[in-house]
Amino acid sequence: MVHFTCDLCGKDLTASGDRRHVVKIEAYPGFDPNEIKEDDLDDDPMEAITRVLERDQALSSDEITASLSKSFRFDLCPDCHKKFVNDPLGKEMVRLFDFSKN
Ligand SMILES: [Zn+2]
Repeated sequence: MVHFTCDLCGKDLTASGDRRHVVKIEAYPGFDPNEIKEDDLDDDPMEAITRVLERDQALSSDEITASLSKSFRFDLCPDCHKKFVNDPLGKEMVRLFDFSKN
């Protein structure tokens, strides 16, 4: 039997029988379409993007691969899911944290 726990609060979703919510987050760089030159479009679009990145930031190919795309997947309990959809970027948390620093 597959066992699920909430990735935020650690609640055991298998034992509690609570509905599990899956959150997927993908992060990748945005590009200004003007940065892609006509030459770049001859071949593989991913190669073109890589070339633009190399041109602009002089990154190693490892760094480029790492910066191209990152995806995350989380299992959340109903409570944490509700909190997440209300504040997906955790802005409220950041605000509270900044506030309490004083
Ligand atoms: Zn939770």
